[in-house]
Amino acid sequence: MSEKIYVGVDLGGTTIKVGICDAEGNLKQTYEGPTKAEEGAEAGMERIAQYVRTIVEQSPYEWEQVAGVGAGMAGFLDIPKGFIKFSNNLDWHNVPAKEILEAKLGVPVAINNDANVAALGEAWGGAGRGYANCVCYTLGTGVGGGIIINGKVYEGFGGMAGELGHMAIVPDLEAINCNCGQKGCLETVSSATGIVRMAKDAVERGDRTSLALIEKITAKDVFDAGKAGDEVALRIINRAAYYLGRSMASIAVVVNPQRFIIGGGVSKAGDILFEPIREIFKKYTPEHAQTGVDIVPASLGNDAGVVGAAGLTLR
Ligand code: ZN
Repeated sequence: MSEKIYVGVDLGGTTIKVGICDAEGNLKQTYEGPTKAEEGAEAGMERIAQYVRTIVEQSPYEWEQVAGVGAGMAGFLDIPKGFIKFSNNLDWHNVPAKEILEAKLGVPVAINNDANVAALGEAWGGAGRGYANCVCYTLGTGVGGGIIINGKVYEGFGGMAGELGHMAIVPDLEAINCNCGQKGCLETVSSATGIVRMAKDAVERGDRTSLALIEKITAKDVFDAGKAGDEVALRIINRAAYYLGRSMASIAVVVNPQRFIIGGGVSKAGDILFEPIREIFKKYTPEHAQTGVDIVPASLGNDAGVVGAAGLTLR
């Protein structure tokens, strides 16, 4: 009865996923329902509260055991105030989420952005379990990230810490524009979008590659072609891996994490991606900053968001 539980909310554009974790970050129960974001923020907040109450009712735990509720979402947030300034995928503006949910639920509530939350999830209950200092990359449509220092998400001034995808790392002569308004960001080469773009460029240039036979190239097609020995595909994969490895070499001498964790769809490629990343990291990182440091795949998959959100209120 005295055991504390933590409830995490992964607030997505179409689905709200809710989970209960114990104090060690083990995911005990999940529940999900539609977001219906188009009905507005007020209805959305009520729906979140409803799902949280429902999951606790359906679990073997009592409401009194709930130590806090955390929510992760995409968008521009005032994290300390728990305020959603603007969320693109929900189309919600100026929502005092923490205040509303605390009033509805009567327990402490915290919010944070989805990349930070996924990082915290991996650090608490996933591949970073037992590691107080780790840095997580999420390789998907973009490149997200999160920095865990002494077991906590490091947010920085203005909440912009951990935006690893926007490290300007590609030299000017090869740099292309990024969504963020800068150029040469890591995201332009190491995200699924970046990998597909490089593949299309190669095909258009007339490079000899099996990718030319594919109508709508995906990042997975590039990795599959690489695994089959396609040299153009391998060159693209190595370029994506090169900049990831270089970025980690920089992070290693700034933050000195013990573990780099890579998640997101692109990370499913496995060794063909991880091996060159490790090689580059080893090559460009000073000995003292790489000893005892490893680079591993994330282990929670889609659950990282809900686990990390639950961890937001952990003391
Ligand atoms: Zn950028």
